[in-house]
Amino acid sequence: MNDLIVVKVGGSEGINLETVCEDIARLVADGLHLVLIHGGSHETNEVAEALGHPPQFITSPSGYTSRLTDRRAIEIFEMVYCGRINKGIVEMLQSRGVNAIGLSGLDGRIWSGPRKKAIRALGNGRSRVIRDTYTGRVETVNSALITMLLEAGLLPVLTPPAISDEGEAINVDGDRAAAATAGALGAKQLLILSNVPGVLAEFPDENSLIPAITADEIEIIAQTAAQGRMRIKLLAAQEALDSGVEQVILGDARSPSPITRGLDGAGTIIYSLKGA
Ligand code: ADP
Repeated sequence: MNDLIVVKVGGSEGINLETVCEDIARLVADGLHLVLIHGGSHETNEVAEALGHPPQFITSPSGYTSRLTDRRAIEIFEMVYCGRINKGIVEMLQSRGVNAIGLSGLDGRIWSGPRKKAIRALGNGRSRVIRDTYTGRVETVNSALITMLLEAGLLPVLTPPAISDEGEAINVDGDRAAAATAGALGAKQLLILSNVPGVLAEFPDENSLIPAITADEIEIIAQTAAQGRMRIKLLAAQEALDSGVEQVILGDARSPSPITRGLDGAGTIIYSLKGA
């Protein structure tokens, strides 16, 4: 499907899923084909606290921060991502006349890949090795299954976890899973919506938005401007461009009509000069 767009909406504080779903309903009524991928980090943290299993985060030696996912953590993660949030979004879309279907990366092996045997984490200036975590990365996207759903007139709403090669649930980064999905489906555009206007040159100053980034500038911006989670979004953008996506747009999920605005050029547009 060459008019397909992949949209990832984050799970940080301040994101209004109702406005995202309203926008999707309008765009779908206009004939757009769309796959929605969502996060759920903020709510997962709250539920994990309430259940007495507070979230833990680690930073890799290369500077990326991620959730430490033991067995109990992945179960809580599934409750929130695959349960409350995924079914909440499906309901919001269905009530607006969109025939959405909510699935995790486990279902039908939509996202599969290797589970990490050990991860390295920095702490107190030292690097330590952690085993028995349920984390990994998406290597293969079941694009045949997603295409089948789209051709049946359904709108797939996808969420981590993914499935390991051994059949276990693994936590994967949602932005990178979205990049792999956009690449596998041959989407021209990937829109990543979060609780910031885009990439900010001087975070958190919202007036310092960087409107456009070319592929060869990604690395330097990741090292200079972006901190924490924004660095993973830039890595995801790089991976999407490498797999043939023409444009990655980092936009603001808090604004009205966030997808329409993103497609109209609000936010940070990341593109490869090859396609320009
Ligand atoms: P989501 O859960 O919506 O996917 P993340 O929390 O993963 O979003 O990533 C977005 C966050 O990245 C922002 O809320 C902000 O705190 C952080 N960030 C770090 N550096 C920057 C930057 N240069 N520009 C914008 N956001 C940044």
